[in-house]
Formats: sequence, C-alpha cells, structure tokens
Amino acid sequence: MRALVIEGVESNRIYEVPEPTVEPGQVLLAVRHVSLCGSDYNTFKGLNPLVSLPRIPGHEIGGVIAAVGEGVPPEYSMGRRALIVPYTNCGVCPSCRKGRVNACRSNKTLGVQQNGGLTEKIALPHEKIILNDTLAPRHLALVEPLSVGFHAVDRGHVCSADTVVVIGCGMIGMGAIAGSVHRKARVIAVDLGETKLALARRYGAAEVIDAGREDVAARVAELTGGDGADVVIEAVGLPQTFTQAIDFAAFSGRVVYVGYAKAPVTYQTQFFNLKELNIYGSRNATAADFHTVIDYLESLETPPDDLISKVFPFDQADQALPYWVAERDTTIKVMVEMPEPAL
Ligand SMILES: [Zn+2]
Ligand SMILES: [Zn+2]
Repeated sequence: MRALVIEGVESNRIYEVPEPTVEPGQVLLAVRHVSLCGSDYNTFKGLNPLVSLPRIPGHEIGGVIAAVGEGVPPEYSMGRRALIVPYTNCGVCPSCRKGRVNACRSNKTLGVQQNGGLTEKIALPHEKIILNDTLAPRHLALVEPLSVGFHAVDRGHVCSADTVVVIGCGMIGMGAIAGSVHRKARVIAVDLGETKLALARRYGAAEVIDAGREDVAARVAELTGGDGADVVIEAVGLPQTFTQAIDFAAFSGRVVYVGYAKAPVTYQTQFFNLKELNIYGSRNATAADFHTVIDYLESLETPPDDLISKVFPFDQADQALPYWVAERDTTIKVMVEMPEPAL
C-alpha cells in the first residue's frame, strides 16, 4: 500500500510501505479522509521538536472498517464508518492516574511521535475507534481538530454568563469559538484578515476584531465595558499573544493556553496575582470532547464544509503541505481524500 512520508524540511513523497497486520483487539481502518494539522505543518517546516524523520503524518482521520481482529466487540463491523482518537495513554503516569489521559506523559500521537494516517490502511486498538454512520465521511476528519478547541473551552469552565475572547481563528480557534457558542457564551474572535473572521462570525462569534487594522486591546476594553474578558483562549502560539491573553482577561478571569509557543515568553507577572487569574494549559482532547463535537456537528443546519479550504486526492497528497505553506493566510484546513475502498 502507499503512504505519504515527510523525509526532510519541506520534502515529502508517496512511498510503497508494508500493509499493517491486524492484532487481536484491533480494527483495520481503510482511511478515507485525513485533514492536516498545524503539527503536520510544523513537521513539514522542520519546526516540530516532537517528531523525528522520516514520518508518515496525519492524525485527523476518518475511514471505513476493513477488517477486525479477534476479540473485538461485534459493533465494529466491516463497512462501518469511523474516526480515530489518535492519542495513546500509558495508564501509569501522573495524568493517567488522575484519569486525565489526554495529557499522558508518554502520549504518542499518530503522525507525531509515531507514524500516522496519511496511508491507505491503519490498524488500531478498537478503543481508539469511534463509530459514526451519520456524519458525512469527510466531516469525520474534522472531529479531532475541533475537539482540541472544545477541550480548551472545557478547561476554561466556559459558561453562558461568560464573554470569551478567542485569539486566533485557525482550526483550533474555530473549535474554541464553536465550543464556547455551544455553551451559549458571548464570543469575541481575534485574527488577521477577513477570511478567517467571516468564518468566526459564521460559527457564532458575536464580535470580531481584525488585529491587522484595529487596536485589539482598545476594542476588547470597549466591547467588555472596560472590564476585560471572563475567559481568554489563546490559540495562536506567539509570545505576543501569550502575554496579550493576560492583558485581555478581567479581574478574577480565566486564561487558557491551547496554542503552542515555539519561543520563550517574557511576562510581567503582577497581573497573575492582582487579577487572581486562573491560568490553564490545554492539551489534546478527551473522548467526551470528541462526542460533544460529534453532537455539535450533527446539530449544524449548514454542514461544516466551509472549514475545509482545499481537498487533494491521495495521488496528489505530496502537494497538500506545500499548498498550505503557500496559502497560509487564507487556509483553515487542507484535506486529503482517498478513493472509496472496495470491501
Ligand atoms: Zn491536530
Ligand atoms: Zn500516561
């Protein structure tokens, strides 16, 4: 079978690789759709410290069950559609012992610390497979990235009384916007440029701020009656937006960091105390977040196709990451589509 392999900085190619064997307890998924994540983008750019090359990228995966191993429950039957929870959990680290398996110390995300889903078939323990026959096949590959944003919302204890500032309207930020709106909070979305801000509005942001044209701090103050936001969710990962998150939070507010800063951040820390902020990290997502996102997507009147900026057939999968690099400002999500399998 074939797989896309990232070999070096801005270098990837489709290779012939061995088919996986299906162990007891495992399900073999014929991959149909893989959407590319910022982590895949950073791997391609040589900026992902968690990855060693060569690596098959991709952890946002939807597909069809093509085989089942011994001892797998009967509902995992051939031909059913499914998506993947792409993380592992060791069971013994401090996070796992607390039941917070999404933050496992030894986590190996598909496509990051181990080979991922940009391949024709992938075998995984059935516990990592979520069955879903109702969403359109391509939307299955949107569940994981949106779940990461929904998890940040959960970390921030967002409720209907809150005004939430979401900094960054990429896919994770869109998940944070949608997840906050899903909890009936009022959302102010911040990004650069009309493309992403229009999508933020479409997914329920009450207000948007164009950081390229407006004074963001002044607008946040104006839109919150001078108080600042109850919750700020940082989904960019730049030192500047990390510190802005503290500035934009109200007294007794909450700050959630889901963006991954690639450079050291310098803080004036007095507002940690003066505002008595709750500051949360957010990593990956829980199974509950995945199910909340599935319910959310099933409830949408207009299907979420506008989150998919561009689809490449698998034959041209090696063009997907270069396209994203070239069209970074206007791209939310790039997806690779495989032919429907003959089962
Ligand atoms: Zn991702
Ligand atoms: Zn663990």
